[in-house]
Amino acid sequence: MARLSGKVTIITGAAGGLGRVAALQFAREGSHIVVSDLIDGQSAVDEIKSAGGSAAYIHADVTSEDSWKEVVGFANSTFGSVDVLYNNAGVMLGEDDNPVTTPMSVYERTMDINVKGVLLGCKYAIPHMIEQGKGTIVNVASFVAHMGAATPQIAYTASKGAVLAMTREIAVIYARKGIRANALCPGPVMTPLLAAFLDNDAKRNRRLVHIPMGRFGEPEEIANGALFLASDESSWMTGQSLIIDGGITAAYVTPE
Ligand code: NAD
Repeated sequence: MARLSGKVTIITGAAGGLGRVAALQFAREGSHIVVSDLIDGQSAVDEIKSAGGSAAYIHADVTSEDSWKEVVGFANSTFGSVDVLYNNAGVMLGEDDNPVTTPMSVYERTMDINVKGVLLGCKYAIPHMIEQGKGTIVNVASFVAHMGAATPQIAYTASKGAVLAMTREIAVIYARKGIRANALCPGPVMTPLLAAFLDNDAKRNRRLVHIPMGRFGEPEEIANGALFLASDESSWMTGQSLIIDGGITAAYVTPE
C-alpha cells in the first residue's frame, strides 16, 4: 500500500526546488497535493497528474494570514481534509551575511518568510487537525540550525534555529491531540536557492570539503526524509530534528 494513501498534503514552495520534488514523491505515494507557492505551480501540478497523481495549485504567500486561510480552505474544499502540512518554503537572501553588515530589512524579510510563514501554516492547519484528531507537520529547518559557519548568512541561520525550536514546542503542545511535528534539516542540495549563493567553483569547493560524503545532496534524498516524517512510519516520533546532510554535522575532520 502506498505510504500516504488518501492523505491530503499542503506543500509550500512546491512550484520549484525541494518542494516540487517532494510533491512528486508524495503524490507517487498516494497523497493528494496542494501545491502552494508565490510563483506559478501549474507545471508542477501537470507533472504530478501526468505521472498519475492528484494535485491542485493555489497561489499563496506564506507571510499572509489571508493566504493561509485560503490555502487551508482550498485543501478542504478540493480534497476534503488537511492531513499533512509540509512547511517547505524558505529564502536565503543575497545580502544576508554577518551580524555587522546584514541589512535589517534582509533580516526582517528572512524571518517573515522562514519563521512567520511556518507559524502561520501551523496556526491555520492545526485547528483542522485537532478537529479530525490527527495530522502531521514537517517544518523545513536546515543543518545550520545545529552548526555555525564562518561563511555566514546570519538571518537565515537565526530563522532556521527558530523553526527548529518552534517545531519542538508545537510537538509538545499537541502530542496528546494526535498531531506530530518534526523538523527536517537538510544539508546543501543544489537547488536554485543554493546555486544563487554558491555561484562559483571556489565557493562550491569551500562547502564540499566539509561534507564527509564529498558531494551535495539530491532533492530526492531530502524528500525521502520528508516522506518518512509525514507518514505513519514515524508514528512515535515527534519534536525531533531529522538531519540529512552527507555527514556534515557528524564531522570534526573530514576525509582527505
Ligand atoms: P528554492 O528557492 O529552490 O525554492 C523555494 C520555493 O519557495 C520557491 O518555489 C519560492 O517561490 C517559494 N517561496 C519563496 N517565498 C515564498 C513565500 N513568501 N510564499 C510562498 N512561497 C514562497 O529553495 P529550496 O532549496 O528548494 O529550499 C526549500 C527549503 O529547504 C527552504 O526552506 C530552504 O531554506 C530549505 N533548505 C534548503 C537547502 C538547500 O541546500 N537547498 C538546505 C537546507 C534547507
